[in-house]
Amino acid sequence: MTHEMTYSSELTIDLDALAANYRNLRDHVTPAQCGAVVKADAYGVGAMRVVPALYREGCRTFFVAQLCEAMELRDVVASDCTVVILNGLDPGAEDSCADQGFVPALNAPGALHRWRDTARRRRQRLPAALQFDTGMSRLGVDAAMAQALADDPSFAEEVELRLVMTHLASADEPDAMSNAAQLNRFEAMAALFPGVPRSIANSFGSALPRAFHNDVVRAGIALYGVPLPAGAAAIRPVVSLRARVLQTREIPAGTGVGYGLTYTAPDVRRLATLAIGYADGWPRALSNRGAACHNGVRLPIVGRVSMDSIMVDISALDAGALQEGDLVELIGPGQSLDQVAADAGTIAYEILTSLGRRHARSYLERGITTACIAGDVR
Ligand SMILES: *Cc1c(COP(=O)(O)O)cnc(C)c1O
Repeated sequence: MTHEMTYSSELTIDLDALAANYRNLRDHVTPAQCGAVVKADAYGVGAMRVVPALYREGCRTFFVAQLCEAMELRDVVASDCTVVILNGLDPGAEDSCADQGFVPALNAPGALHRWRDTARRRRQRLPAALQFDTGMSRLGVDAAMAQALADDPSFAEEVELRLVMTHLASADEPDAMSNAAQLNRFEAMAALFPGVPRSIANSFGSALPRAFHNDVVRAGIALYGVPLPAGAAAIRPVVSLRARVLQTREIPAGTGVGYGLTYTAPDVRRLATLAIGYADGWPRALSNRGAACHNGVRLPIVGRVSMDSIMVDISALDAGALQEGDLVELIGPGQSLDQVAADAGTIAYEILTSLGRRHARSYLERGITTACIAGDVR
């Protein structure tokens, strides 16, 4: 079947850069293993494409947030891989999880009891990760519960612990006192389960001292192109985004622009309307903030971001430099994902996971670009 390749905006995902990022992270943390966090459809980038690309680089541990994400990835995760479900077990999910051999992170007492009950009922020792809350107050059992489990011989008969883990509250702040405090608490709790592999670090944790790398690093955002501090693994951008010019116009001084006329041209201006809006994950917080970019020239956003379009000031370009139908850069060499996030008052994670399905996608892999029509990411 052939698709007519028309599109208003284009998301390009460089899987070769992703693979290089994986190799650099892996080499930086070795002898620790580098696992990959592919939750939320690999941060919106497309887990069906990301998982095989990382498998080829030797990645064998994948982390998702939910059972449904693990289910969707069944066909692309090879049998020699481990899939850890970070949010653990929803009530009623126990048998599906056990049938598939997924490894739930046991975070809370209820899930722990349900998993142990399931193991007894099925007469089967079931795999799990055990998460400790070491100070973030998000997910994980406390020290007393960890001690009780370690003291209970039937726990080890029912549950085969594959990983003990915790999550850092401030991994991106290398000087935060809380990092060392969490590491100390983690080591005390992990010592209750000798021989079980340990995991603390996310992407930014890989940039912390070696004591934080432990046995398995859980790399997410760095794989998808957000740079780490100097001295850590080198990271290449993975995602670029472009949108078409729908219309250009020249407006006289005093003309209002967009919903609410929140921008008024101080003098004569040339504008372009671009085919991207908040329904495409381009945040409405970028109204009268942030920019697009064309051949290195910054094109400030003027007026409010609409659902399907934005207006940018193209007065800095030569007349005629942008025409209807041309593609303009929103994320790329002229404007990083981190810059967009900063302009919008948020983080790259939120921009990436919001980009959504309306963009046409193309994947660059082993030097070859393949296109998918908008919405069709498989
Ligand atoms: C999302 C997540 C990660 C990955 O974090 P990054 O900052 O994207 O590297 C690692 N561990 C846990 C528990 C997570 O929830």
